[in-house]
Amino acid sequence: MLSGRMMDFPLTIAHLLERAGSVHGHVEVVSTLPDKTRHRGTFAELHERSARLANALTKLGVKAGDRVATFAWNHRQHLECYLGVPAMGAVVHTLNLRLHPTELAYIANHADDQVVVVDLSLWPLFDKFRGEIKNLRHVLVVRDTGGPAPEGTLDYEAVLADASPTFDPPALDENAAAMLCYTSGTTGNPKGVLYSHRSTVLHAMIAGLPDAIGLSADDVVLPVVPMFHASAWGLPYVAALTGTRIVFPGPHLDPASLVKLMAEERVTVAAGVPTIWMGILQLLDAAPEKVDLSCVRTMIIGGSAAPASMIEGFSKRHGLEVTHAWGMTETNPLGTVARVKRHLRGDAAKELALRATQGFAVPFVETRHVDSDGKVLARDGQVMGELEVRGPWVASSYFGDEGADRFTDDGWFKTGDVVRIDAEGYVTITDREKDVIKSGGEWISSVALENALMSHPAVAEAAVFAAKHPKWDERPVAAIVLKPDAKADKDALIEHIRPSFPKFALPDEVVFIEQIPRTSTGKFLKSKLREQYGNILVDKA
Ligand code: AMP
Repeated sequence: MLSGRMMDFPLTIAHLLERAGSVHGHVEVVSTLPDKTRHRGTFAELHERSARLANALTKLGVKAGDRVATFAWNHRQHLECYLGVPAMGAVVHTLNLRLHPTELAYIANHADDQVVVVDLSLWPLFDKFRGEIKNLRHVLVVRDTGGPAPEGTLDYEAVLADASPTFDPPALDENAAAMLCYTSGTTGNPKGVLYSHRSTVLHAMIAGLPDAIGLSADDVVLPVVPMFHASAWGLPYVAALTGTRIVFPGPHLDPASLVKLMAEERVTVAAGVPTIWMGILQLLDAAPEKVDLSCVRTMIIGGSAAPASMIEGFSKRHGLEVTHAWGMTETNPLGTVARVKRHLRGDAAKELALRATQGFAVPFVETRHVDSDGKVLARDGQVMGELEVRGPWVASSYFGDEGADRFTDDGWFKTGDVVRIDAEGYVTITDREKDVIKSGGEWISSVALENALMSHPAVAEAAVFAAKHPKWDERPVAAIVLKPDAKADKDALIEHIRPSFPKFALPDEVVFIEQIPRTSTGKFLKSKLREQYGNILVDKA
């Protein structure tokens, strides 16, 4: 082999930190505090404070590869951990504050967390499992509510004040671990995904491209997606790379607070799960004239399927563009983005349909779908199979090596998503594998039914799940949350979707509920619906 003669310069988060400070020092970081006031800092301060954190952790005895956990909302100190912890060679582990204390204790021990940085506002939650963390050595408290740090803990600000601002990053291997995130799996124990510096930096470079998430120094990004979920989709790292002004919502994730924040901070790109946007759409529909969101260039929606009716509602009624994207904790996280390719534009209905797919793969992510024997299926937009992906920011195994069956012998990761892929590479998720509905041997897509039901004006949310059936084995049943004061009965809903589906795919039953049960990261928890209503057809038979 004739080797290229270029420098072997490692792709590390330490470079992102250095760049944020030295090239983009003037860029603002805005953090919303629990009392709703906003702290304003700059990338120059971020750089200095992250450097102090790195030095402080070294002084506290943290070594390369040790895990430093966070239990925090989205704010500047969390961003300092995102940059400062990996820059000194340790691994930042983001604990999901929506999980049950038992689960958190399991995860913190599985990760072997030695230091935890925790918001004072979250102390009551943290207190429920901190005693269970076996090797916990230090707790650093971010006093976001202003009160004193609890006994036996260290005040984050005091620790930073005591540390040197001059930081000389150690030589880092780009394949060294930088960040640890646990999956939000609804079955079995959560599994750890250990991101390397290289995967994180490469992901940031690609996610920053205009046809991916696309951020520039002219943008203002609002990560509504929690920093404890799949590294807030890598947005903090993209922002550090590109010099994007960053606005954090802190604990205020209700639609009114978010809309106010977007309007006042002139946010251009905001990112979050469909539930968040559903709430915002309802708020805007109720009072469209009151807020000026003309600053918003696009809203990135992922984590669950963005219904076509929501994408259309934002664009038609409020002139707001949605970018639908798919990813997983295991894919660090971006995999596909639903851009409409130039030659496919022109017909509004077709464009909307493409925007509502999960999109096609971003560069360096490859997709295929396979049948239950692992045979690769045709990209004909029809045949359904399990999505498999590979690429430089896709996990090659789990931390602790559980779940080996999710990785194929020929180097692909099995996503557990059931999809169709068309000839253009557009991926459409029809179900999670564990949620598929198999009726008399035929697969029925719950996601397609949900999308159609959510286009009914009275429906706020719809989740379709498999109920047991004496003859067909399983049949679809829809759980519906109606909009406040809206009315619709089973017949009206079924009539609404009848033209779009073959008869056998229509739900047998509709149940009206107050709220759809969700996972800690906002996905429909259909196992709960099956538990509760799974026998509804058997009981009726
Ligand atoms: P997590 O690891 O918690 O981010 O969950 C990843 C899973 O969320 C994927 O395997 C999908 O089932 C689901 N998901 C993520 N993005 C989308 C999307 N745009 N549409 C439908 N499902 C999605």
